[in-house]
Amino acid sequence: MTALAEFLAQADGWLAARYPKAAETGKSRFAWGEGSDEVRVFQEPDPVEEADALPAIRKWRQELWDHGYGWIAGPVQYGGAGLPSAYERAFEQLTRRYEVPGDSALTVSLGMIAPTLLRHGSEKQKQHWLPRLYNGEQIACQLFSEPGAGSDLASLSTRAVREGDTWRISGQKVWTSGAHLADIGEIICRTADEPRHHNLTAFLIDMHAPGVEVRPLRQMTGGAAFNEVFLDDVVVHDSRRLDSEGNGWQVGLTTLGYERRAMGHSAFGGAGILSTERLISLVRAAGQDQDPVICQEFGELISHLRAAKYTQAVMAAQAKAGRPPGPEIALNKIALSANMKRLGEFVAEVLGPALVADTGEWGTYAWTSVVLGAPGYRLGGGTDEVLKNTIAQRVLGLPRAT
Ligand SMILES: Cc1cc2nc3c(=O)[nH]c(=O)nc-3n(C[C@H](O)[C@H](O)[C@H](O)COP(=O)(O)OP(=O)(O)OC[C@H]3O[C@@H](n4cnc5c(N)ncnc54)[C@H](O)[C@@H]3O)c2cc1C
Repeated sequence: MTALAEFLAQADGWLAARYPKAAETGKSRFAWGEGSDEVRVFQEPDPVEEADALPAIRKWRQELWDHGYGWIAGPVQYGGAGLPSAYERAFEQLTRRYEVPGDSALTVSLGMIAPTLLRHGSEKQKQHWLPRLYNGEQIACQLFSEPGAGSDLASLSTRAVREGDTWRISGQKVWTSGAHLADIGEIICRTADEPRHHNLTAFLIDMHAPGVEVRPLRQMTGGAAFNEVFLDDVVVHDSRRLDSEGNGWQVGLTTLGYERRAMGHSAFGGAGILSTERLISLVRAAGQDQDPVICQEFGELISHLRAAKYTQAVMAAQAKAGRPPGPEIALNKIALSANMKRLGEFVAEVLGPALVADTGEWGTYAWTSVVLGAPGYRLGGGTDEVLKNTIAQRVLGLPRAT
């Protein structure tokens, strides 16, 4: 096996030959007042820009795949490089030094659906789908929630009815992030009336199949990152069933575990909205850095962010050891939504009226999208209340409320 240092040196050369260094484009370090002041809690690009960016993302993934960087820690039999996950993380960090298209549009595909396939897919499904997800040919979404089934996912009513080797699916899903970009969707359907938790089955459906209709939903941030998905007699071959008939609940739990892991991972790294540097600059620019109350609140916010980061590091160590996420991963998500709320309140206090009046001043009104987007974190990936129940019952062993 190539030593990590040698692997990184080769990877650095490979990236340098294809992509400009971030420093050269001035984006390596955050500097208050320079460049775009956009701060977002969700990826909500303009639909035209988003569609335009997609070919570059697919090309980036294909190039990575063709050169052995597409799935560094993945099993060799499915096209991965079979290297330790430390190599994958080191490569990911290295890519931040370059202006690459990145994988933020692929969190569901690579952070949730691919690991679910690896755990529940048949050998044939893994051989077929995993390379296509990692090389960017296929983009996946998660079709779980319904208008009448969110927290109580097991009560979902989208039906799949078997007809020989095929299934016919009818129903409605909602809040489906990225469905408008997706080629395939992991869907959980009701395939029997009873017994609860054993009457659901998972499939990978073709999002371009006849009978699938995707309609955007606009959020209060102004963006439309998620959708309603209507399914009208959609025909799916049984070869697209994930795991056995009636085991869809277990497949769904696997995906939700990976979702909570991916959410924690994406929120606490990098120079995003939770970067200390950005927040210090905000306080200074607002002329509040001598205010003792603001300084105290800032200290509290940073302490919470650090505590969450260390909790996340413990979870990451488990992931490194190859352990799939257990119910305790809910802590990641609960900490994230609590910190998003704290952040929104802190920013509102620092900026005051400048937060809501669009004066054109750099780094002020832009924060509205964070304040308006933060509550979504209380719901996405399972609501805080439901996840607290999960921690109480499945981690601490407390009795279930009757
Ligand atoms: C940004 C975002 C992205 C999303 N992306 C996706 C996606 O890609 N795919 C997908 O399938 N879904 C997605 N969702 C949907 C998400 O999973 C659901 O919103 C969530 O499961 C809650 O369901 P609900 O909205 O129906 O709320 P409900 O389940 O109706 O809950 C309403 C309220 O009741 C509370 N509640 C419900 N049951 C209990 C209980 N037993 N104990 C205590 N309190 C309870 C809840 O905490 C909540 O406050 C997304 C949501 C958001 C906000």
